[in-house]
Amino acid sequence: MSMTHPLELSALILDGGETDERTNRITNQVVDLTDHISVVESFSHIITFKTDDGLVSFDSSGASTGVACVDALRAWSPDPVRKLVYTHGHIDHVGGSGAFAADAAAQGFEAPDVVGHHAVADRFRRYDDTNTFNLHINNRQFGGISLKEGMGIGGSDGRFLPADAMWPTTEYDDSHTFEVGGVSFELFHDKGETDDHTWAWVPEHKALCVGDFVTWVFPNCGNPQKVQRFPLEWAAALRKMQTKNADLLLGAHGLPVQGTERVNRLLGDLATALETLVKETVEMMNNNVPLDDIIHAVKLPDDHLQRKWMNPIYDEPEFVVRNIWRLYGGWWDQNPAQLKPPTRGAVGAEVAALAGGIDLIIARAQALADEGDFRLACSLIEFATQAEPDSQAAHGARAEIYQARRNSEYSLMSKGIFAAAANESRAKLSD
Ligand SMILES: [Zn+2]
Repeated sequence: MSMTHPLELSALILDGGETDERTNRITNQVVDLTDHISVVESFSHIITFKTDDGLVSFDSSGASTGVACVDALRAWSPDPVRKLVYTHGHIDHVGGSGAFAADAAAQGFEAPDVVGHHAVADRFRRYDDTNTFNLHINNRQFGGISLKEGMGIGGSDGRFLPADAMWPTTEYDDSHTFEVGGVSFELFHDKGETDDHTWAWVPEHKALCVGDFVTWVFPNCGNPQKVQRFPLEWAAALRKMQTKNADLLLGAHGLPVQGTERVNRLLGDLATALETLVKETVEMMNNNVPLDDIIHAVKLPDDHLQRKWMNPIYDEPEFVVRNIWRLYGGWWDQNPAQLKPPTRGAVGAEVAALAGGIDLIIARAQALADEGDFRLACSLIEFATQAEPDSQAAHGARAEIYQARRNSEYSLMSKGIFAAAANESRAKLSD
């Protein structure tokens, strides 16, 4: 299968052309972007600059892709990697760093200086404290969708953060500039998807390295299973990037982009989407509207979401709204019954008793699912399994309803969670 050069493909798409080609490609192959810059397309990508005194790489890809990616990089240049910059500490960006260390040792080079924001190490410590929890989360997040094998979702040794991952050796707070082979790299910290993000401006190449600030999907700014994201700070970072009038935009996922107009339009589209969600959500919060009403009211225009660089196939605006609520308002949703709720089993048992047993609940849930009203269908079927956790009929229906919902959903986050629910009920069925 031949693939269009990533800069050509992004230009085609941003200029309004039609294509069926994927924008997030995991080939573990190296592609020349200029004479001095390459990308290894993976999960995450590795962006590398060639200088007169060795290489500077951004991100190391994941644990299971690192070796193949470093091999690809070696085919591009025999030079030592002087600096390895972490755009942030997510494991698909740092998990392959052990392969960089092994490569340096094999070539007789010094290990690269690993540069990152100081919160990267805090994240690494948190990953160690919550190791098993994170493995569960990522199995659920990615388990509902068949992605290419070898995605960087954790070490093979039962550790979320692989044991051989390199910790930052140079840490900074707000900004940090370094020079390698006469090329200067200006690093900036801003919050966005994470609290430890770095983006970089490389004036000599008019290039921005943007990590996960730009990923060619709707911003991963609402992720239901992960720690706080920062939508307004994310948008502000994108606005700062626009002021550089870059010629090249190099992200850690999705396509690189060439041309100042394209780069700034893409940055602006993402910023506007996040700014709009924050503005509308906060406006409703100021009007004392409860979360339940806000998530059903705040929407982005369809024609924006259909743009391939902000398609909600990974995360969703609705989840971003919840994150904005959590960031400014805490966890309580303003439903007084939810402040100190009974167990869900107790609620389910009461509802089932009122309905004269779980059979009517199951039937109604199935009818709603058949009509495509999955929000209501899922709410009802939960009463049935909570009232009777061992009921084969309830779990059979629940497995079917969540599987159908998984198939109807668009985002990886929703597919993953609904597929996990279907699997959970399937596991309770004796066949
Ligand atoms: Zn990433």
